[in-house]
This record gives sequence, C-alpha cells and structure tokens, in this order.
Amino acid sequence: VPEIGVLALQGDVVDHMRAIEAAGARAVPVRRASELDSVDGLVIPGGESTTMSKLLTVFDMFEPVKKRLDAGMPAFGSCAGMIMLASEVLDGRADQQSFGSIPMTVRRNAFGRQIDSFEAPIELDGVEGGAFHGVFIRAPWVERVGAGVEVLGRVSSGEGAAGAADGRIVAVRAGSCLATSFHPEVTADARVHRYFVDMVRSSAGPVE
Ligand code: GLN
Repeated sequence: VPEIGVLALQGDVVDHMRAIEAAGARAVPVRRASELDSVDGLVIPGGESTTMSKLLTVFDMFEPVKKRLDAGMPAFGSCAGMIMLASEVLDGRADQQSFGSIPMTVRRNAFGRQIDSFEAPIELDGVEGGAFHGVFIRAPWVERVGAGVEVLGRVSSGEGAAGAADGRIVAVRAGSCLATSFHPEVTADARVHRYFVDMVRSSAGPVE
C-alpha cells in the first residue's frame, strides 16, 4: 500500500487524508522535512497559496519539498495546491513562491467575484466514467500550458453562473504531477484520488 503524504501546514488536510484512504492508500500528514522522506507521493491541499508559501518558508519546508518534486515524487495539488505546483502565477502576491513542477500559467481567484465559488460539471480524461462534479472555491484556472502538459479537464457547464467559465482548463497532468482547480476531496467521489494513487503506484520504483 503506497504511503501518501498530505502537506499539513495549512488548508483542507483532513478531507484529502480521508479521500486518499478511500482510494486505497495510507495517508500521513507532513509537517516537517523528516516526514517527507517516507512518503511515496504528496498531496498539496486547497487553502490559501500565499499563506502556504509563507509557511513553507517559515518551517524550512520549501526546499525539501521542491527537492523531492524535482526528483520526480508524484504530487497532486488541488486549488491552492495547483497554484503551488505552477511555474507561473498571475494575480499572486509579489513574494509568493511556487514549486514550478508543472510548466503552466495559473491565474489566482480567476473566476471573478460573481462566481467566486460555484459547482459545475467537468469532463475528465483518464478518470473512469469521465463526468465529475467540480466544486470550485475561489479557484484558479490554467491560462496557458507548456510543453508536456496534458489537459485532463475543462469546465463544461454551458449555463448559469458558471457559464462564463466554460471551456476553462481546470485539470492537468504533467509527468508525475496532477493538479485540479476544483476540490475533489470535498465530494464523496474518490475517483480523482484513485487516479493519483494509481500514478503513485506506477511510479514506485525499487527502493535504493
Ligand atoms: N484563492 C486561493 C489561493 O489563491 C485558493 C483557494 C482554495 O484553495 N480553495 O490560494
């Protein structure tokens, strides 16, 4: 059973831990560098990316996490976690850092004030069944993807408040990294987490 860490400095840690367990892996909170060593993959939860960036620095966690990401550790970022994995952040704070694991440009709080938080259907490639219920909370969208980034999902509501968001990229994968603008951890549907657990399983090489 793969052991998957959930970065537990800030954000909706408990929901991700529950979803990872529901997807058949062991979930462990990661607060310090020593706790990173044993995990086979890492979830970066939703929350507030400016705060998360600051706490990663304060707790000397930014470099250790970046080092593992650069070495190919599988990671899944939702919402603020997506922002943390991006190479470029628009509408961020000047001092906000991100890991740059996925060559893409994300825009923070992109969906605007009227549709700050909303729910919309998404069609997800590679996730069994395809259709997924997207829950968006002050979410980023992906404005541009670089080479090697696979677009897995876009908003596909075609109606209502979320209509303005139609077609926006909200799920991507690049190599060992997965990111979603929405929050699959707040639904009872563990398919996205199962997809990530499968990524972790298939990347697990022999130890040493
Ligand atoms: N708006 C938040 C940020 O910029 C993300 C919101 C979320 O993770 N639900 O980090």
